[in-house]
Amino acid sequence: MTAEQTSRIDASELRVLVCIKRVPAPGARINLTDDGQRIDTAHLGFAMSPHEECAVEAAIQLTQEAGGEATVLTVGPEEAEEQLRYAVSLGIHKAVLVKTDGEAVNPQRTARAIGAAVAALEAADGPFHLILFGNESADSGGFQVGIRVAVGLGRPIVTAIKGIDLELEAPAITAKREIDGGLEIYKLPTPAVLGVKEGLNLPRYPTMKGRLASKKAEITQFQPGESEPDGLDGQTSLGLIQPPQKASNVVRLGEGPAAAPAVVDLLDELGVL
Ligand SMILES: Cc1cc2nc3c(=O)[nH]c(=O)nc-3n(C[C@H](O)[C@H](O)[C@H](O)COP(=O)(O)OP(=O)(O)OC[C@H]3O[C@@H](n4cnc5c(N)ncnc54)[C@H](O)[C@@H]3O)c2cc1C
Repeated sequence: MTAEQTSRIDASELRVLVCIKRVPAPGARINLTDDGQRIDTAHLGFAMSPHEECAVEAAIQLTQEAGGEATVLTVGPEEAEEQLRYAVSLGIHKAVLVKTDGEAVNPQRTARAIGAAVAALEAADGPFHLILFGNESADSGGFQVGIRVAVGLGRPIVTAIKGIDLELEAPAITAKREIDGGLEIYKLPTPAVLGVKEGLNLPRYPTMKGRLASKKAEITQFQPGESEPDGLDGQTSLGLIQPPQKASNVVRLGEGPAAAPAVVDLLDELGVL
């Protein structure tokens, strides 16, 4: 555990970490493996979750404005390098892969693997003043990993964040939390952890220069380490159930101009007109 920071942060020493997850690209058709235990990833495209795109953007903006460096980390298979390199192409400085064997496991083990990697990275290069998570992942959406990492590290965390201000002098972070119909405002001492929500900012797109540079970026690798069997984590996954496909019914309204009255009637019926 890192001691709480009480003196000002030198801008050049600011360190921000963003944790991202490789998830099926939005809109992809999801199929399960025959045993019903996992998502069949054979023909899926992948991305990082939208909340995490905002976390990456926030880390880039904070370090562009204040100085210092931003690091991105994921726990996942070798293919997750694709999402790490994408983050680097946007302006993240360093990338870390906690490399797994491709079998998705529960949030507690993931949080332990992230906590162990954070401890090793901080022992080598100093504390991360801010660790950013998405509020929840776009696929399993457990809302757990960030909170479990913060508790494990003994650091304050606030989730559902829609605004971040960093004061290097204090040093402290002011975080605006979205609630029903308004915002709550928190002040946290550094080092701190935030779970951010889509809408925090407008994520940028990579430049061609950024894309080319990201191909050559060095990716630091860790192993997740030994874990207890599932039961000792207090959770055992029994399987996944796919929702029934909605039946669709195609009705031809006609052809050419002759179909126009039927289209108008239908739009009227749907309340669009
Ligand atoms: C040994 C091991 C093997 C694993 N193998 C795989 C694998 O092959 N494929 C795979 O997709 N996942 C793998 N994982 C990760 C794991 O399956 C999930 O990421 C984890 O259970 C997250 O749960 P959730 O989606 O409910 O996250 P939530 O709790 O909803 O996530 C909240 C936020 O936490 C962060 N987060 C979540 N997952 C990760 C992650 N993996 N890395 C970094 N940050 C994260 C993101 O910022 C996210 O927005 C492995 C983990 C371990 C420890």
